[in-house]
Amino acid sequence: MSQTPDKARPIPRAGIMDIDAYVPGKSTAPTGVAKVYKLSSNENPLGPSPKAIEAAREIAGKLDVYPDGTARRLREAIAEVHGLNPANIICSNGSDEILGLLAQTYLSPGDEAVITEHAFMVYKIYIQSAGAVPVTIKEKEERADIDAILAAITPRTKIVFLANPNNPTGTYVPFQEVRRLHSGLPRHVLLVLDAAYAEYVRRNDYEAGIELVGSAENVVMTRTFSKIGLGGARIGWTYAPMHIVDAINRVRGPFNVNATAIEAGIAAIRDRAHVERSVAHNETWLAWLSEEFTKLGLRVTPSVGNFVLVHFPEDNKHSAAAADEYLTARGYILRRVSGYGFPNALRMTVGTEEANRGVVAALTTFLKS
Ligand SMILES: *Cc1c(COP(=O)(O)O)cnc(C)c1O
Repeated sequence: MSQTPDKARPIPRAGIMDIDAYVPGKSTAPTGVAKVYKLSSNENPLGPSPKAIEAAREIAGKLDVYPDGTARRLREAIAEVHGLNPANIICSNGSDEILGLLAQTYLSPGDEAVITEHAFMVYKIYIQSAGAVPVTIKEKEERADIDAILAAITPRTKIVFLANPNNPTGTYVPFQEVRRLHSGLPRHVLLVLDAAYAEYVRRNDYEAGIELVGSAENVVMTRTFSKIGLGGARIGWTYAPMHIVDAINRVRGPFNVNATAIEAGIAAIRDRAHVERSVAHNETWLAWLSEEFTKLGLRVTPSVGNFVLVHFPEDNKHSAAAADEYLTARGYILRRVSGYGFPNALRMTVGTEEANRGVVAALTTFLKS
């Protein structure tokens, strides 16, 4: 007995206590601020689809009944809109859940999983949870470097996670490059294409990954309803080869998508007009914000998502931390991104016209102070 009886208590598996817990974007301003603009979590400034709100209200009276554990009607609705086979779709409690399930299913202790320098933080958490080793690859001009990723593959590599576009940079990898990455990977390595922002991308050389998943045995594409208006409902989905669907279905919780999420999701994905309005709003204001910040002398990483990464001057008076404090005091909540390797930048979600103009006006005054 190495422990005295009064000290004995359950101990987490090796490595669990080395994990840095995820820190979500702030959602509150100091008391006394008249109006709060939450621009820290890449939510849709236009809100949920009105049809999704109605569907959620309607199911509220039937919440005593378990949901369909296979989320069949939601998978069929997604399949119809995207032209896919519903059997190849897995729904999840946000796409975060599927990222964790993939790590849990395909990584053994000691395996390696590749992520990029400024990648979305949850990959690392799930890799470590599985007892595997995150291998972080330097980016080039704040974008994934395909050659460097390929050079890092070893016999222990089991997964490559690629957020395309990435959060918090907003940069994307053109699809020719994604194909080149896939061609260079050994066939036992799983390529996870996280296309959380796919709806917002307006580039001819971008693809979310549907065709690649359809023609390979080692690629999955993950998607989410969160950035298009349903962050609170927690709905993600994955398009995957049958053998991966079969493995994940053995591991996932039997009712991982709740009844409200299923009904809201079906209504939301069929409401194409709301998606189009949201994307059009984003296109206008993403360009406007990027231009205005640049005019203020702030460097902006070119973004194709629904957010921008804004870099601040080196002087202490006008640092990202100082700007964050200034904006927060005025009700504008942006995202600090030090944990992502950007100690002197803030990520701002494209907001309503009022929020966007407000942030630019506040930063104009701030930078003159
Ligand atoms: C927001 C986000 C997700 C997942 O969000 P869920 O709400 O769990 O669906 C996944 N990947 C990236 C890159 C994101 O920014």
